[in-house]
Amino acid sequence: MEGEKGFFSALREKIMTTKISGQQFEDMFSEMEMALLENNVAVEVIDKIKHDLKEALVDHPIRRGRVEETVIVSLKDSIRGLFESAFDIVSRIREKREKPYVIAFVGINGSGKTTSIAKLASYLGEKGFSVVLAAADTFRAASIEQISQHGDKLGIRVVKHDYGADPAAVAFDAIKHGKAKGIDVVLIDTAGRMHSNADLVNEMKKIMRVAKPDLKIFVGESITGNDCVEQAKTFNDAVSIDGIILSKADVDEKGGAAVSVSYITKKPILYIGTGQDYKDLRPFDVDAVMENLGLA
Ligand code: GDP
Repeated sequence: MEGEKGFFSALREKIMTTKISGQQFEDMFSEMEMALLENNVAVEVIDKIKHDLKEALVDHPIRRGRVEETVIVSLKDSIRGLFESAFDIVSRIREKREKPYVIAFVGINGSGKTTSIAKLASYLGEKGFSVVLAAADTFRAASIEQISQHGDKLGIRVVKHDYGADPAAVAFDAIKHGKAKGIDVVLIDTAGRMHSNADLVNEMKKIMRVAKPDLKIFVGESITGNDCVEQAKTFNDAVSIDGIILSKADVDEKGGAAVSVSYITKKPILYIGTGQDYKDLRPFDVDAVMENLGLA
């Protein structure tokens, strides 16, 4: 009896299931790889997805008629595993005993850094926190002007020095002001010329030494795909970022940066920018990324 049962169950498994061979997997993945590359997913991330899928799919029995579904489930699992868990900035601010909580923002010009700072300032204001902005991008007069305009619109004080002043001194003054006035949060804007510029990196390190921020956030433009990921890596190597804001997700049709940046830096995406208004800042949500990729 036992033998028969074993025999029939083995036969049933043969009839009901199929297997993906190593070669079939390679053929299937080469098409998937093209799609991932076209959508700006970083090569390192593609390698990781390939490794995960191979482990999950090759030479395992899969129910006949369910191959496609099984591949998609494995792909979703792999992509979900690419993200570091985000933390809640509001709780972090509340947990800090000594005010102010200091957040420094890094990222190259045009990435949406100033807009993201203003959005976060507005959000924190709504949560009941008092906020001060530090105009520590002193390399461009326009940048000081721009953050001042946001401050005016939001009714938030902006600590600034003249164009060309020492950015670390601006950050220091903003924190000093915050301490004196019992301000909850200081948000520091920094310069973002070319991320490979050695002077800029040294300047950045000096600001961090002086301001000792509780949090360092990299702001990158999701539409620039691999460039955004490379920038995140460079800033992370220079000043060790704690989290990421990805701007312009509303105009990003590919999603490669969102899929790649957390895995490459091992830092969480905290928020995504979804437009030009102050309200257009959303907590990062893996499900929304999956939906964007058509994998929901
Ligand atoms: P910075 O040079 O890095 O400070 O960049 P800005 O904050 O000045 O942003 C550059 C441009 O991108 C501005 O025109 C912003 O309005 C726009 N921008 C910033 N964030 C977003 C976003 O999430 N979505 C869209 N569509 N535009 C954005």
